[in-house]
Amino acid sequence: MVIEEVDLKPPTADEVRIKIRASGVCHSDYHHWENEFGSVLPLVLGHEVAGVVDTVGEAVSTVRPGDRVVNAMGHRCGECFYCLKGEPYLCTPPADAPLLKRFPRIWKGNQGINSFAAAGGFAEYTVVPATQVIPLPEDVPFEVGALVGCGVATGFGSVVNTAKVQPGSTVLVIGCGGVGLSVIQAAAVVGAAKIIAVDIRDNKLTYAQQFGATHVINASREDTIQRVRALTGGFGADYAFEVVSHPKTIEQAYESLRKGGVAVVVGISPIDAQVTIDPLAMMRTGRTIMGSAFGNIRPAIDFPRIFELYRAGKLHLREMVSRTFTLPEINEAFQALGAGEVVRGVVVFD
Ligand SMILES: [Zn+2]
Ligand SMILES: [Zn+2]
Repeated sequence: MVIEEVDLKPPTADEVRIKIRASGVCHSDYHHWENEFGSVLPLVLGHEVAGVVDTVGEAVSTVRPGDRVVNAMGHRCGECFYCLKGEPYLCTPPADAPLLKRFPRIWKGNQGINSFAAAGGFAEYTVVPATQVIPLPEDVPFEVGALVGCGVATGFGSVVNTAKVQPGSTVLVIGCGGVGLSVIQAAAVVGAAKIIAVDIRDNKLTYAQQFGATHVINASREDTIQRVRALTGGFGADYAFEVVSHPKTIEQAYESLRKGGVAVVVGISPIDAQVTIDPLAMMRTGRTIMGSAFGNIRPAIDFPRIFELYRAGKLHLREMVSRTFTLPEINEAFQALGAGEVVRGVVVFD
């Protein structure tokens, strides 16, 4: 990534411009930084954005200049089949929807520049639809707000909205990055009795314990499925969350379940990845495998809940920000994420 001056189109009637104060460094940015997804360049990455509203379009009545806000990752057009069903995390606007005609928002001369996840958050300003921003309470720091905008909401929503984890259950979490640790924290909040964390890095497993894991498995030295069986009286886990984004760990999550257990795919697997499931065993064991799209989050409902749990000391979100970076240190921030050195890095702006 390089830092350049570019032009940002002013907000249209229903948009807001945000002066960004914090922008989280998330794995979905990392995939593009590594160019694993055939990114269309040039591209401004960054999508976990918190800041202060700077300018609003004339039709915007929900926020005003000076308001602290979080950008809720993705888009919710409010008009498509899924939005009308109350499933905005599946929003699929028609190809000619005005929402999709706003891009590119960023220009350098005649060159249009893409904005990752419609945000382009590693920048001093961004313009997003007003429907995409959620108020950030005064006592919640911008860094925390930024994490809630994607990673924390995804992990929390996977537990609370997608799987609806029951108190007293056993929860397996494979992958202990920012989203995995959010799954662990949410599982603790809803009263999981056993939370088994799996990773291949010992420092991540130490974090997992700090955030609520009751047992840890280092998958580079131990067999995950065997250990889970041993920890559950031979039965297997009630729920298994896959946050690594790999077909093998998805299969492991599924195979670690008890009969009737639920595996949840949270991670973003590589394009064309395939998973093998034995359908006869699936029928006989009554297991479920489900996908969680952005934690089935409805931001206007779920973000305030997350902020309340943070204020109540039940979600330890400040502790997840293990390092902050300035914009000129942006590549360093990605290297730190890739090396597994940070729980979450956040780029902060004055
Ligand atoms: Zn929609
Ligand atoms: Zn993200």
